[in-house]
Amino acid sequence: MKISRRCLLQITGVGVVVAGMVPRVAFAARNSLKNMRTGVQPNGKTRLVIETALRPSYTLVYGENTLTVKLSNTVGNNSVAAKLASGGLVKTVTQAQIGDALNIVAELRKPIGEIPKNQVMILEPNGDNDYRLVLDFAAGTGAKTATQKAAATNESNTTTRKRIIVLDPGHGGKDPGCIGRGGTKEKAVVLSVGRKLRTALQNAGFAVYMTRADDTYLKLAERAAIAERKKADLFISIHANANPSRSMKGFSIYTLSEKASDEEAQKLADSENAADKIDVSGFESFSKDIRVALSALQQHAVAEMSEEYANGCARAFNRAGIEQQPGPAVRHAPLAVLRSTVPGALVECGHLSNKAEEKLLKSSAHQDKLVAAIVRSVKNYDFEA
Ligand SMILES: [Zn+2]
Repeated sequence: MKISRRCLLQITGVGVVVAGMVPRVAFAARNSLKNMRTGVQPNGKTRLVIETALRPSYTLVYGENTLTVKLSNTVGNNSVAAKLASGGLVKTVTQAQIGDALNIVAELRKPIGEIPKNQVMILEPNGDNDYRLVLDFAAGTGAKTATQKAAATNESNTTTRKRIIVLDPGHGGKDPGCIGRGGTKEKAVVLSVGRKLRTALQNAGFAVYMTRADDTYLKLAERAAIAERKKADLFISIHANANPSRSMKGFSIYTLSEKASDEEAQKLADSENAADKIDVSGFESFSKDIRVALSALQQHAVAEMSEEYANGCARAFNRAGIEQQPGPAVRHAPLAVLRSTVPGALVECGHLSNKAEEKLLKSSAHQDKLVAAIVRSVKNYDFEA
């Protein structure tokens, strides 16, 4: 949804140029610095905000006690002085114009590690604000400093912590999920895929937990809570689909959004959420704790990471030759099980309502194929970058 909004903005921009309201130079327009400030977040992290007239294009460079934000094709503004919050890590913020690029150099009281991807955000203009590049960081956090990272690249996973994956086979116990024509129950198929996947991911060096490893019923919120408790890096909910049209087949992958991306996605959310008969009127149904823990910015970051994983997962399925449901491979829906601070996706492996696919989903060979594709997607996922 976010991507299409971005496209819309671009299209609008072109429209304006065509209408001749701004000069043609708009395409090559240079960005300009509008404002800079720091703050201290409730969690103690320092926040650096850089406001620019256009969407910023940036790279981060880590020095001994400095953080440099290189803004390409940007012109500085000497009348802009950074407003610094007391108690933060930032001592001073200065501008240096290097050719077309503007370097914003933050001098720090203590060294910081590389800032994780989910702590860097670009916000669209709103109200009095222009585009904002927002960076959150704390002393000595992040993974490693850039130098340490370079030194570690030749070493194996043993020097970094294992990534934690929580697998969530859908339904279970009193809730069979959907039932195929031949009587195959979704809860059984997805449990079998989940167990195989656990072994395969463990063999690939991941720490893996399952929301259920047997035929147990679990509420959707409990599943999301397990991902929180285990401090998971990635949450994968495994399902199989059913459709009134028996000819419908193929996989599809879902990420969380407040509104469904299409009618199909809404129907799916209705049926998957129905297990708990919970209220899904929006993000209000986030559990209170999670809502407090997640700022709007973090929600945005989790959504972006989930989107990235889901797209990679769809690519892995396509590459493996697994049939895709007609329409977009990645859809969005208000799925209760995905409401957490953990990036993740819900994978509908195929349709049990289709006779041929029901047979496939039951077969161990096809389950192995699904597992291999998901393992590939997890290995390719950029956990931090
Ligand atoms: Zn399901």
